[in-house]
Amino acid sequence: MTTTTAPKTYRVKSFGCQMNVYDGDRMGELLTEQGLTAAAEGDDADLVVLNTCHIREKAAEKVYSDIGRLKREDGSTPLIAVAGCVAQAEGEEIMKRAPSVKMVVGPQAYHRLPDMLERARNGERVTDTDMPTETKFDALPKRRRSGTSAFLTVQEGCDKFCTYCVVPYTRGAEISRPYGDLIEEAKRLVDAGAREITLLGQNVNAWTGENAKGQTVGLEGLIRELDAIPDLARIRYTTSHPNDMAQGLIDAHGDVGKLMPYLHLPVQSGSDRILRLMNRSHSVESYLAVLERVRAVRPDIAISGDFIVGFPGESEQDFADTLRLIDQVGYAAAFSFKYSPRPGTPAATMDEQISAEVMDERLKRLQALMIEKQVAFNAASVGKVTDVLVEKRGRQPGQWLGKSPWLQSVHFEGDVAIGDLVKVELVQAGPNSLAGLLI
Ligand code: SAM
Ligand code: SF4
Repeated sequence: MTTTTAPKTYRVKSFGCQMNVYDGDRMGELLTEQGLTAAAEGDDADLVVLNTCHIREKAAEKVYSDIGRLKREDGSTPLIAVAGCVAQAEGEEIMKRAPSVKMVVGPQAYHRLPDMLERARNGERVTDTDMPTETKFDALPKRRRSGTSAFLTVQEGCDKFCTYCVVPYTRGAEISRPYGDLIEEAKRLVDAGAREITLLGQNVNAWTGENAKGQTVGLEGLIRELDAIPDLARIRYTTSHPNDMAQGLIDAHGDVGKLMPYLHLPVQSGSDRILRLMNRSHSVESYLAVLERVRAVRPDIAISGDFIVGFPGESEQDFADTLRLIDQVGYAAAFSFKYSPRPGTPAATMDEQISAEVMDERLKRLQALMIEKQVAFNAASVGKVTDVLVEKRGRQPGQWLGKSPWLQSVHFEGDVAIGDLVKVELVQAGPNSLAGLLI
């Protein structure tokens, strides 16, 4: 067996959802704790972690081409680890097809990365896709770094088994992290500079835990406790499932000052027939009823959603129902995807798979309507004076970029600093951002 020298620098490349971004940050912290430093932009790293996403098409193929691209001019490669959901779903296959990969680590096992690294240095090729009963969160280092806006994973996994989705297989069963751990992590993030925290989960609003008084609470209980952290300015959460939108959480939108008026509530389709085939366990009517209850307590709330076009069996009428729903809801933003058959999921073998041409055409129509809605939502904000959380410098000299409460990007000029919460008048709107004047 050959022993390689210990890697000194690392790079974590995260793909996919915000939960992967969170995991990528935590892996970085773990490696920093082991004495490695993050490679500077443009420099080669001794260790590269590809933190992959498996939610849609060609994810695995993309991983192989990313691995190929890591080859240096002299033919050598860094130490490569494949992490995330592709690692979970296709670990053995990756080891067979890509000899340069030395470590494969699933999303529930990455706290064991230091041990794997040691074994890989001793010439072993190591796969760890266990879903251990001990939680990775207990084994990860305490938070010491944060940007202005931080992610905090509170819930993982999913028991809902929508027929198109790999998450229940790659991320495992639904778990809620304990209340006390989350409050502590949130306080550490705020001490490290976070002014906004976005609570994350595949079904974040299914989170439940026991508060300091021993009472069982839902996500609103956690949000109310976070609201009391003095230097925290904003709280957000994503992604929610329509069926887990409890009245307590809806009420929090009415009276928790730091909870932002934004709700990402995927519906996937506007046709009840397709929703049944998807096993979504909600109907168009029940979805709309949730929105009505939320808007009753927070009329200005921005709603965003996820849509899948071309689910097996989707007829032109089903698709027209989706467009009608989009029109009716008046979304502020949305993510829309072509249906992608995921190996091992029930929908992948359903009859009437939709052709690529039809999916392309439907996606174009849906996105055109969505842009109209986004433009209308942003245009309606012009004239408002609102808080903007400053996140970074803009592209033009003297320009700053920040977010409105409704998650709109706002650019403006003035004497401010990253992390400031400033008053800005919104003066001009485009589909993806607004121009503002510092008050
Ligand atoms: N739990 C959330 C929910 O139920 O809405 C969504 C989590 S999923 C990681 C994010 C989005 O990816 C989904 O809302 C769905 O629109 C999309 N998605 C999941 N599986 C897909 C597939 N097989 N093809 C296309 N899009 C998919
Ligand atoms: Fe996937 Fe969301 Fe359905 Fe769970 S609820 S199976 S994460 S789409």
